[in-house]
This record gives sequence, structure tokens and C-alpha cells, in this order.
Amino acid sequence: MDHKLKILFVATEVHPFAKTGGLADVSSALPSALKKLGHDIRVIMPKYPCTTKAGKTIEPLNLNVDISTGNTCHKGYLFQSELSEGIALYLIEQSEYYDREHLYGEPDCEYSDNVERFSYFCQAVLEACKKLNFQPDIIHCNDWHTGLIPVYLKTQGDSWFSQTKTLFSIHNLGYQGNFHHSSFAATGLDDSVFHSDGVEFYGQFSFLKGGLMYADVLTTVSPAYSKEIQTPELGFGMEGILQQRSDQLHGILNGVDDTVWNPETDASLITHYGPQSLSSKNTCRQDLEKALSLQLNKDTPILCMITRLSEQKGIDLIMQAQEALNNLDLSLIILGTGEKHYESFFQQWQEKRPDRIVAAIKFDESLGHRILAGSDMILIPSHYEPCGLTQMYALKYGTVPIVRDVGGLKNSIQEFNLKTKKGTGFKFETPKKEFLLKSLQKALGCFKQRKTWEKLMLNGMNQDNSWEFSAQQYSNLYQKSLLP
Ligand code: ADP
Repeated sequence: MDHKLKILFVATEVHPFAKTGGLADVSSALPSALKKLGHDIRVIMPKYPCTTKAGKTIEPLNLNVDISTGNTCHKGYLFQSELSEGIALYLIEQSEYYDREHLYGEPDCEYSDNVERFSYFCQAVLEACKKLNFQPDIIHCNDWHTGLIPVYLKTQGDSWFSQTKTLFSIHNLGYQGNFHHSSFAATGLDDSVFHSDGVEFYGQFSFLKGGLMYADVLTTVSPAYSKEIQTPELGFGMEGILQQRSDQLHGILNGVDDTVWNPETDASLITHYGPQSLSSKNTCRQDLEKALSLQLNKDTPILCMITRLSEQKGIDLIMQAQEALNNLDLSLIILGTGEKHYESFFQQWQEKRPDRIVAAIKFDESLGHRILAGSDMILIPSHYEPCGLTQMYALKYGTVPIVRDVGGLKNSIQEFNLKTKKGTGFKFETPKKEFLLKSLQKALGCFKQRKTWEKLMLNGMNQDNSWEFSAQQYSNLYQKSLLP
């Protein structure tokens, strides 16, 4: 086996302790898969009020992580829990910064002190390593909130980390942590870092750019997205930097954690099913119909969406297609939260056409599982999609994805071919309602041919999307970064 490494995995959300999206799922599943490869991996995150509701024991360690900026000392405390067997999860308590209802901000407005909140976090993570007497070979950072960790490491010359390498994973380049340049002072970093080859980004101060410039290795969550972010269309202004660093940039597709997402064992479902017992999926449908008071003909397909309601997710295409969707023989279930105008759109649609659409405007993990199991299809019309997890979960649940052919959706879904019966879903390329509807019509046509549809479901259910292969690729990158 490869050399056993000491790895610290840093994220601001980890399922089941805190979750707003796919990052939490990855931050839970990938460390577990790396542990199986024999590494000593530990995870660290902030301690929010929701972390205590995860049903896990969390204990104080009696270790302080105090960080001074200017004349102020911000006191923090370390807690410990267990992510899964043998994986320590550390939580940093700093009540001034993390004792809030949300992780990053109110629904329509980021918290105004996010520079302080996350620069504290980055420094406290490094301080925690020393307090825990843990000298990591690798610090694996995730998304902009952790982007300053490589900057502190590279610029402060701390001998504790002289052998430590950093890997920075981009889960979504659309979120960059860019702030007014005057806020840079709060980081305690030297002014010399604020330049165009450092953390300066068009006059602003950027956490993400820090990660991209200073980390030893860069990854993103699918091979297709690793190419797309090097173009002006999807690079969000960072394409030049990513082109420059393309030798260090790798696309590794996320996987499915089948201890959480598996219809054969899923605790949220009324009954279990799998490739050998497909007919029980219908019981899950009936359970869902009852829970949502749907009265459907048994031949009417259920199309679902489980998503953040943000521009990225292509909600505008659904809005444009609303009338056509009203005239199709299907029922739409949407589970999501996010931008207020999208939330109102779905709520108003439901008020007008309760026979067509159910809008569950909330974040409800268990309902998400039941919807996936009880639906026939899932729609993911994203403008961009770094990886996307729901389409891979849907495959496992025999729920056929209809997706835009972009990013991780491109890598994880193959167009179904009616002649060869190969493929796992339906894809459209051009982000216009006509193309979305054409794909959907194709799916609805196929749905009527019961035997063919079952073959399509089974193709998806039997696809191997486990984390094993992806974890091995991360492991290889860690090892390579440590070579002299
Ligand atoms: P992103 O990370 O861009 O939000 P992903 O598809 O990678 O999208 O991951 C989304 C994760 O969040 C999935 O686990 C999905 O089931 C979950 N999710 C999204 N919205 C909701 C919601 N309103 N209720 C429950 N789960 C949700």
C-alpha cells in the first residue's frame, strides 16, 4: 500500500453536523473513504448551534485556540466528536463568530463579518494542529472559507508545518469570498501578500484566490469542470490563474456514500428496494403521495427537483417552461430553499396549480430521501454544475436524471439510447427551454414503455459511483505532492 499519511481535512460543513449543500456530503464521505485506504485522517470544522443536533457526542478537549488580531484576542475552544469509526472530528467553538442560526449569512445577505469569521477559522485550524500535537503531511482545504490556510502556511514560515503540503479543492468557483480591500487588515497577513500574484483580485481581497495561488495542489470535483473553469464562460474571472496552474489542477469526480444514500438500507424510507426488488419502489411512491397529499393516476410520472434555489441551478429555464410543464402529463415536486424570488415563484405556481406541482420550500434531509425514492425522474437544468450529487443519488434510487450536459453531470450521466438500451439518463446541451422540454418529452415517451424504462432504471442502479476510486486518486495526489 501507499505510504500512510497524516491528513487534516478542513471544511465549514460536514454531514451530519452541518449541511447547506454537497460540500457537507463530500466532507463526510471522502474522509471515510481515505481512512479505508489506511491514512490517519482527521476532520475539523466550526462549531455551530446545529452541530449539537447531529445525534453525536461532542466533548470539550480543554484546549484553547486563541488568535490575536491587532490588540484583540479572539478566544476559541476545541471540541471533539467522531465522524465515523476511528475518524476524529474536531470542532472550533468561537461563540462570537459561529453561534448563529445560519452558517454563512441570512438567506439574502452574507454575514458582514465573514472576513473575520473565516480568517479566524483558518488561523485557528493551524493553531489546533499544534495544540493537538498533530503534524499533518497534508492539509486538505475546501472552498473559499479555507482559502487562507495555504497563505498563512506559505507566508508565516512556521517550522511546525515545514513538511506540510496543502491541497485546495474547488467545489464551486462561483463562490469566491471576495471583499473590499480594506477588510484585508483583519486577516493579520502581511501587506506584501496583497498583490496580483497573491490575494488581490481586481482591487478586492479574495479568499479563493489565496487558495488558488498558494496551495501546492488544486483539485475540482469533476474532470469536465476542471476544463470549464479554465474558460472565460465558467472561470468567473479566475480562468487565467487556473490556466497558469493547470499542471497542478486535477478533476476528480465525487462519489456516493452508500451508508447514507442506498434504497436497500435508507432509514427514511417506508420500505427498502434495490435492483432485485424494483417493485417496492412503488410503495415508496405511495408513501410520498400520501405525505404530500398527491392524488395521481398511477401512470402519471413524478418529476422531482431537490436543490438550492439559485441562479446556477437553471431555475430560470423552469420559469420559462412553466406553461408547457402545466400541459404535460406529469407531477412536479420541488424541495428547495434559496433566493426569495424563486421560492415565491414555486409557491405561487403551487397555489395556481396544486394538481401539477408541490413546492416544499424548506431544507429537509429526510424528505429529500423520500422524494428521491418515490419519484420517477429528477430534473437538473443547471447553467453550471461542478459535480452535482443528486443525479448520482438518483441513479442509485432508480430515479432517472434529466440533466443539462455540463460539468459533473456530463461525466456522470450517459444519454440513454433507445436502440442499444445503453445509458442512464437524458441530457440537453443548450440552456434554453425548448431543449429542456425536448429531453423531457423523450423521457416521458420512454416512461410509457415499461420494460425499456426498467432497463434504464437498472442501468443507473447498477452503475458504480462509489468513493473508492476517487479516494485513491486523492491519495495518489497527496503522495505525489510530498515527493522531494
Ligand atoms: P450543491 O452542492 O450545488 O448544492 P449538490 O447536488 O452537489 O448541489 O448537493 C446538494 C445536496 O444538498 C444533496 O445532498 C441534496 O440532497 C441536498 N439538498 C439540497 N437542497 C435540499 C433541501 N431543500 N432539502 C434537503 N436536502 C437538500
